[in-house]
Amino acid sequence: MQPLYEGKAKRLYTTDDPHVLRMEYKDEATAFNAEKKAEFENKGKLNKAITLLLYKMLEERGIETHIVSDIDETNILVKKVDILLVEVIVRNIAAGGFSKRMGVEEGTPFKTPIVEFSYKSDELGDPLINDDYARELGLATPEECAELKRQALIINEVQKEFFAKCGLTLVDFKIEFGRPSSDPSKIILADEVSPDTCRLWDVKTGKKLDKDRFRQDLGGVMEGYAEVLHRIEKAVS
Ligand code: UDP
Repeated sequence: MQPLYEGKAKRLYTTDDPHVLRMEYKDEATAFNAEKKAEFENKGKLNKAITLLLYKMLEERGIETHIVSDIDETNILVKKVDILLVEVIVRNIAAGGFSKRMGVEEGTPFKTPIVEFSYKSDELGDPLINDDYARELGLATPEECAELKRQALIINEVQKEFFAKCGLTLVDFKIEFGRPSSDPSKIILADEVSPDTCRLWDVKTGKKLDKDRFRQDLGGVMEGYAEVLHRIEKAVS
């Protein structure tokens, strides 16, 4: 079966329901705007399981997500959404792109979380934008930008508290939102939340358990992801 869409980490397929798609998580990993590529056995399985548990936990706390139901190890059913081309990044501690751009040492905590928008465009390398750019580029209205920021900050608080229970520090993360085809007036959390899209450090040792292990050639990439899943499973049981 041909996918309707294939991204860097997931494929989307149609189903009998026009408002529902099947999302398949792949084992491929990319970094630095796909300049660096690799395949990791079990990555799809781990990221699917992590996203599913986190999204269930967020739903229980009133955040609507695209999840419909679980299918198997690497597949889930999701609501068909029109993805907003605005990537929302929330930062609690300086790292990655922020540290590089601003010359702030990795690990420096922020007093209040930073919310950042970037234009979802592989061609342009996801450039940083603000509400005015989003409005003029037709990506999101000012009201929608405010809604993205509102939801992102709630998601950050819920996840920060949850990851703390897992002995993990939520340094930063990227999320994507979409307008469901069944109700385009809404904006709901879509895509994924996994070690591919979050920075997670062990609270005690500071050990990185996320995609930075791949970006920085630290080794044990899947061991890190498996550790995150294991701790999440323990925290929800
Ligand atoms: N991120 C992501 N996809 C992107 C860019 C960033 O998932 O295209 C995540 C990244 O894993 C990190 C957070 O968003 O958890 C902040 O990333 P940053 O802007 O520091 O960029 P990076 O260091 O990934 O270049």
